[in-house]
Amino acid sequence: MAAALKHWRTTLERVEKFVSPIYFTDYNLRGRLYRDSCPVAALSSFLTPERLSYQQAVQQDFRSVQVGDHFGPTWWTCWFRVELTIPEAWVGQEVHLRWESNGEGLVWRDGEPVQGLTTEGEKTSYVLTDRLGEGDPRSLTLYVEVACSGLLGAGKGSMIAAPDPEKTFQVSRAELAVFHRDVYKLLVDLELLLGIAKGLGEDNQRSFQALYTANQMVNVCDPAQPETFPVAQALASRFFGQRGGESQHTIHAIGHCHIDTAWLWPFKETVRKCARSWVTAVQLMEQNPSFIFACSQAQQLEWVKNHYPGLYTRLQECACRGQFVPVGGTWVEMDGNLPSGEAMVRQFLQGQNFFLQEFGKMCSEFWLPDTFGYSAQLPQIMRGCGISRFLTQKLSWNLVNTFPHHTFFWEGLDGSRVLAHFPPGDSYGMQGSVKEVLKTVTNNRDKGRTNHSAFLFGFGDGGGGPTQTMLDRLERLCNTDGLPRVQLSSPGRLFSELESDAGQLCTWVGELFLELHNGTYTTHAQIKKGNRDCERILHDVELLSSLALARSTQFLYPAVQLQYLWRLLLLNQFHDVVPGSCIQLVVEDAMSHYEDIRSHGNGLLSAAAAALCAGEPGPEGLLVVNTLPWKRTEVLALPKPGGAHTLGLISSAGDSAQHGLCSCSRPHLPAAPAAPAACVRSTRESPEGSFSRPPPTKTDGSVTLDNGILRVRLDPTGRLTSLVLVASGREAIAEGAVGNQFVLFDDVPLFWDAWDVMDYHLETRKLVLGQPGTLAVGTEGGLRGSAWFLLQLSPNSRLSQEVVLDVGCPYVRFHTEVHWQETHKFLKVEFPARVRSPQATYEIQFGHLQRPTHYNTSWDWARFEVWAHRWMDLSECGFGLALLNDCKYGASVRGNVLSLSLLRAPKAPDATADMGRHEFTYALMPHKGSFQDAGVIRAAYSLNFPLLALPAPGPAPAAAWSAFSLSTPAVVLETVKQAEANPLSRTLVLRLYEAHGSHVDCWLHTSLPVQEAVLCDLLEKRDPAGHLPLRDNRLKLSFSPFQVQSLLLVLQPPLD
Ligand SMILES: [Zn+2]
Repeated sequence: MAAALKHWRTTLERVEKFVSPIYFTDYNLRGRLYRDSCPVAALSSFLTPERLSYQQAVQQDFRSVQVGDHFGPTWWTCWFRVELTIPEAWVGQEVHLRWESNGEGLVWRDGEPVQGLTTEGEKTSYVLTDRLGEGDPRSLTLYVEVACSGLLGAGKGSMIAAPDPEKTFQVSRAELAVFHRDVYKLLVDLELLLGIAKGLGEDNQRSFQALYTANQMVNVCDPAQPETFPVAQALASRFFGQRGGESQHTIHAIGHCHIDTAWLWPFKETVRKCARSWVTAVQLMEQNPSFIFACSQAQQLEWVKNHYPGLYTRLQECACRGQFVPVGGTWVEMDGNLPSGEAMVRQFLQGQNFFLQEFGKMCSEFWLPDTFGYSAQLPQIMRGCGISRFLTQKLSWNLVNTFPHHTFFWEGLDGSRVLAHFPPGDSYGMQGSVKEVLKTVTNNRDKGRTNHSAFLFGFGDGGGGPTQTMLDRLERLCNTDGLPRVQLSSPGRLFSELESDAGQLCTWVGELFLELHNGTYTTHAQIKKGNRDCERILHDVELLSSLALARSTQFLYPAVQLQYLWRLLLLNQFHDVVPGSCIQLVVEDAMSHYEDIRSHGNGLLSAAAAALCAGEPGPEGLLVVNTLPWKRTEVLALPKPGGAHTLGLISSAGDSAQHGLCSCSRPHLPAAPAAPAACVRSTRESPEGSFSRPPPTKTDGSVTLDNGILRVRLDPTGRLTSLVLVASGREAIAEGAVGNQFVLFDDVPLFWDAWDVMDYHLETRKLVLGQPGTLAVGTEGGLRGSAWFLLQLSPNSRLSQEVVLDVGCPYVRFHTEVHWQETHKFLKVEFPARVRSPQATYEIQFGHLQRPTHYNTSWDWARFEVWAHRWMDLSECGFGLALLNDCKYGASVRGNVLSLSLLRAPKAPDATADMGRHEFTYALMPHKGSFQDAGVIRAAYSLNFPLLALPAPGPAPAAAWSAFSLSTPAVVLETVKQAEANPLSRTLVLRLYEAHGSHVDCWLHTSLPVQEAVLCDLLEKRDPAGHLPLRDNRLKLSFSPFQVQSLLLVLQPPLD
């Protein structure tokens, strides 16, 4: 035996060279992996801009091509016909088709997809036979469908740059080769030993054992003499067979493949990504019976069901065996901040019902590994949808603060708790390396509290998924001294283990705020506006259709259409679409989805209105509908013949016992009786004299608007110099300051352009100053007073705004139009308030929360840009100022300055993002008392849900009526819809929530013919103990703060 000097570095690098794919491959082990090879017999191709089915594609005209030929451009598809003949001499050998290309490929055999081939995803060979038999057929024709885009799209120069439309692609290898599995196994062993040596380092003796084992394997192994391999193999087996102790950490290795439903590629490409990725996963499941693959997003499964039925059947078979595990429970992995509470519920409703129907059970884990922050209402929503477990890892991306846990209880706004787990390796795309396995243990922030972790392996984002090599690595590490135990596992097993350890876990209360990607609250304003609009349209359609169902025996509830429209909206709420972090092609698709929802939605509104009008005496005209559950008195633009409008004051006065809800009636313009509250009623122009007018007055170029509630003073450039609550004389604007001040910031992030706004942008704040004299009076008064002005934001961008004050309205509105042509600029509007408070309040899903107005700690200042829904508020004792909006989500309050984020101008991945015309409205509401008592929440609803004036095709109900009313303003009736399950069902679902943050009892009154009322969960499953006694058409509900409750109302059968 030679002297064993074994210098650490030379030994390590010696082994590295022995397995290197670059160095010494003429001599080393790696060079022996594939030995004999031969070209394919014939290669021909057909190029198309379409994404064709296999049946269509194979009938096309294929032309002979060579390996190395270029094809393209971006987003086209090249189909290859590969004719091959295996040499007879290879009998007894394992034979592969080796295929390398920079476009994503899918192999088709006998009309079915069989495997994905992507060089980026380390899938470059397709096994033709694992042992060629004597009499086996040796000739075969395959097709390979190659997309002209890569795993992560086709960015020009960098991954997130806008796609290069002219990119060309190439197949750089297409050949048959003999694969030496004994060489492969040794390579896996040696790479793992190297990983252990490097990962444990020179302070660890197990590290030296690994290194010396590898070194000895090199000593005994002659790559040219396969008969030397078993000795080397035995050395490795001995090392990996040395077991660890009972206290070892257990890693649950779960196969996964994160596929962004649209991102740097369009939705349609995702359909194919799913097929490429999952057919490969199915093949691995069939070959590795202990391999378990977790898969989320019902929408993607539905695509595969429709486009690849054969593959879908195999997936379902794998699911029956417990190898394919649907997770998440949602329609897509949605954004966790921007969707409304109801939309989040629908993600689960559509998702869980799909999983139940297609796979026989609902998901038990919520799965959002890649989403940009998590609303404090998610625990309650999850719980209501049958889920008490949550997995993500995105908070590892925090820029400022390290999140203190990997396994913990997450407690939501209402106190609901779920068990949350972040895989401590901080990734959902592991490769099975020793480094990742070790990080999973060392990085775990709950050491000692729990001894189990998730390890999600498989290429992700653009799909790809696990490889056989990853599985082989993980299997070798199942139980080796010095390393954690690794077991192929399922999410269910992992969480069961965590639950059994749960006694020692800590609790995190409130939102999981991601300290990064805060620009996504603002980027792509049209997508945000589409989201808010369409959430409203679907709300209104469901409400009106439900009323029509209750009132008319003829009316068919449009259940199928509504499911279709909801699914489009839910699709757009994917975590790279509604955040605006996608390419232009995706934006175009998203806008067309919104257009579908708007046009179909308006059609459905008209149909419901027609049904509500039918059969009742009354003159034809307009049906005015209040879709909110409380009385409103508002100025409404009523259509007149010829396309003109006239302003009318619609009052839902009603008697005080009957407040609340939805009434229905029709309006002939002048006169109508005092009307009820919320849903449908007749219009009437009130005698103007009985209201204080908003009289714009103009002195020194300034304008004052006054409606008796608010007095608004604008300076000659349109800035707000004073906002007075008339009754108290209280001024809302800070002394010496002005509101409605537009500000521009330089907005250059570190990398993630569409995603990120950095803290340093605040240092570049520049006021936009207008020209005095641009302010003009708009509407002169009466029911409405207004002033308007123009503002040049920059040489290329301009803004015009109408400041509007209506009779009886507690807020002043700012209708804004912007022509925006900027590069890396951020536009906001600021309102310095005469209010002092260390915290501001922001609306979120089904409630609100507070965030600090100061930068005391790093956790405080990391929230320099936050998200909100329809309103935010800064209040001190007895007084406050609320800022409402109709389609914005980015916001901040620092000190006493409320700031609303309006427009950004990022250039990647969409160079055209936000360029062009925008229209949006925000509103300002000073108030006495708390924002709860002052009605800020209702005002924000009113701004977002204008009264509807629908043409009544026939006689409309002569009298206004109200469908629902509530006894307390603390409770909001958010949703009225038909129960799922049966399109002919005469059962409605009502969803209500406590919006003030209080314990409260509430009486719900309805005028609908209800025969039974019972509580249900968010998936509309009856609560067996939830029967609610109905007395005089009233039922009582008790709420805790921010609690969401759903109930089923079974309507009486129609009379005829
Ligand atoms: Zn993602």
